Amino acid sequence: MISAQLREATLEVDLAALRHNLRTQLKQIPGAQVLAVVKANAYGNGLIPVATCLNSEPGIAGFCVAMLDEGRQLRDVGIEKTVLVLGITPVKYAPVAAAEGVSLAVGDLDWLRAYRDLARVTGIDKPLRVHLALDTGMGRIGFTNKEDLAKAVELVQDPAFDFEGIFTHFSTADSGRQHDTAHFAKQVAKWDDLLSVVKEKPRYVHVANSATALWHQDKVVSKIVRMGISLYGCNPSGSELAPSWQLAPVTSLTARLTFVKKLAAGEAVSYGATYVAKEDEWVGTVPVGYADGYCRGLTGYEVLINGQRCPILGRICMDQFMVRLPEKLPVGTRVVLLGKSGDEQITATDLADQLGTINYEVLTNFNERLRREYRG
Ligand SMILES: *Cc1c(COP(=O)(O)O)cnc(C)c1O
Repeated sequence: MISAQLREATLEVDLAALRHNLRTQLKQIPGAQVLAVVKANAYGNGLIPVATCLNSEPGIAGFCVAMLDEGRQLRDVGIEKTVLVLGITPVKYAPVAAAEGVSLAVGDLDWLRAYRDLARVTGIDKPLRVHLALDTGMGRIGFTNKEDLAKAVELVQDPAFDFEGIFTHFSTADSGRQHDTAHFAKQVAKWDDLLSVVKEKPRYVHVANSATALWHQDKVVSKIVRMGISLYGCNPSGSELAPSWQLAPVTSLTARLTFVKKLAAGEAVSYGATYVAKEDEWVGTVPVGYADGYCRGLTGYEVLINGQRCPILGRICMDQFMVRLPEKLPVGTRVVLLGKSGDEQITATDLADQLGTINYEVLTNFNERLRREYRG
């Protein structure tokens, strides 16, 4: 996909806000170490610029990615810190991880045996760094009982492996509802129980995502946080729980009007002609659409122009949409789709609420076609 340089639409990434979010949270958990979660193109903000910015910050122990390709990209730009792939990597690709010194999450015995055998046959010289994943109630990946975990701990003593970490993931740390806090407590209990079979703890023992760090600080074991969404200035709970500290939004999406016209009463706008002007009005065209990740479900929502909220008229198209202007405005006028304008602000959570989703999905939807600009 082409990153469009020759149009007026930009995803602005505020690296000062990113550093602020990291430093603020490090202050709250003194001595904490952060594995910065940069999967999905650093939540849409750009893998390499975000990782490079964070790499030189005190408190960053390393990075978490979703897949091995992302880890390799970090190594390619010279990042030498720990890089952990959070998802399961097929055994056949694991030699690449060993060669690159990328750590892999492993959640079952068959995987460990298969890799050990492969390493013996092929004579891989560097041990593979592994983090054993424990499924304490997320129901996604990992060991679920002590017997298997004990065997896994034995298996990773093989010279094919470097037993570097052990971790779990909480599914309800971002919620204050009774069902969710009860589930969280169950996961903590299961974690403690499973961990009792691991006599010699590896270097990284980690359980905390952003929400755990924000709302369950006493459970951030070994003071290691896999910090994702809060780095990017978003509240992991949406609007349900108030963050214990101030997060600064990192991501803005802006564009400039490409076309301005006066629409006469009775005239229609966009596909399906679903919007018909009730009276004469000024209408502007914005050069962003659902193919950029500005979802079609935002039809009926609004943007900011000169500090004023302006409604979107008619359906959002693939590459453009129309808005009602408060008055005649020149082509080139700045439009804020996500971010601040004057005293007004549209957050990723606002867009998520409109779409019936979560701020994570709003950010990760922004794709390569949007040019990224970095400041701070
Ligand atoms: C994505 C992910 C995280 C980061 O979660 P945030 O809520 O963004 O902080 C942490 N751990 C695991 C295992 C993940 O998959």
